[in-house]
Amino acid sequence: MVLKPKIFVTRKIPHQALSYLEKYAEVAMWEEEDIPVPREVLEKEIETVDGLYCLLTDKVDEPLIKRAKQLKVISNMAVGYNNIDIRSAANHGIIVTNTPDVLTETTADLTFALLMATARRLVESQHFLHQGKWQSWSPMLLTGQDIFGATIGIIGLGRIGEAVARRAKGFDMNVLYYNRRRKPELEARLNVQYEPLNDLLAAADFICILTPYTDETRDLISDEQFKLMKASAIVINTSRGGIVNENALYRALVNKEIWAAGLDVFEEEPVPLDHPLLTLPNVVALPHIGSASIQTRVNMAVMAAKNLIGVLQGNPEDASIHKVNRN
Ligand code: NAP
Repeated sequence: MVLKPKIFVTRKIPHQALSYLEKYAEVAMWEEEDIPVPREVLEKEIETVDGLYCLLTDKVDEPLIKRAKQLKVISNMAVGYNNIDIRSAANHGIIVTNTPDVLTETTADLTFALLMATARRLVESQHFLHQGKWQSWSPMLLTGQDIFGATIGIIGLGRIGEAVARRAKGFDMNVLYYNRRRKPELEARLNVQYEPLNDLLAAADFICILTPYTDETRDLISDEQFKLMKASAIVINTSRGGIVNENALYRALVNKEIWAAGLDVFEEEPVPLDHPLLTLPNVVALPHIGSASIQTRVNMAVMAAKNLIGVLQGNPEDASIHKVNRN
């Protein structure tokens, strides 16, 4: 009898993904839906498994990776992988995989929904109504910023950035972008315009951050950058907390250097309820739900399962395995 490889799954995942894993492997799973696996459980489990199936809430750092004795693959159920020390994994001969593409359109939808909710003060308006403050229609009551015809500046024109640009075009927006590499093909196809970062910040009505979180993008948007923005600017971050410096964002909002912000991600998640940003009516805050449609989460879970099994079956060169490092 051939022994199946051993896998640890750090959270209860959709049954479609779990049953796929169980076909090929001996699976242990942290059964909680809402609570991340405790570090000490992860430390113990990682010692004996061939594959780790994890989420962005799991910090897979060098001390954890060092404990693994036979680990071959870390499969992250997310496109971002800043929770994993990918260099350390590579040094230990461990392949790291992620789930790109499958969540692109869903996350772009949420980014645009957040942009619209922030610009047109949807959350504030609902509170206003529920609190019984709606006395009558009034000319300037709860007035927001126009979206159609406005200029959007997308920082990080990757998969999701491009999908947001397509949506913006549907709203007759003027689309600017800033990226490490210029994308002439996209510029021509979508009619979007490259701008150096500071020029984009000064020109845009909406500033949408969609880069990964890296050493290079940490605090990419801070005091200096807010000072360049229009007083009517709206900042949308659906990428990762920490790319926009939260203290600087708070100062910019309170000092009216910018008009509003929509945030799906925070430096610390869950964001503490006494966080100063949550006291501001012009901040729309969401609990990191960018990719959270039922179908997309199932697709991500299955893709992460296939990535993991693909590596364990010894097909690391298989193009359908989404690797982010090499061993
Ligand atoms: P992607 O295709 O890799 O796009 C990222 C883009 O950012 C690339 O075009 C890249 O440009 C650019 N970039 C990287 N570093 C940069 C820098 N220092 N300055 C300027 N541009 C830079 O990734 P994606 O699939 O669109 O996902 C983007 C991020 O969204 C993920 O990393 C993740 O953190 C976040 N995300 C959040 C949610 C959510 O639930 N809120 C859901 C999905 C994804 P180059 O090609 O030139 O490197």
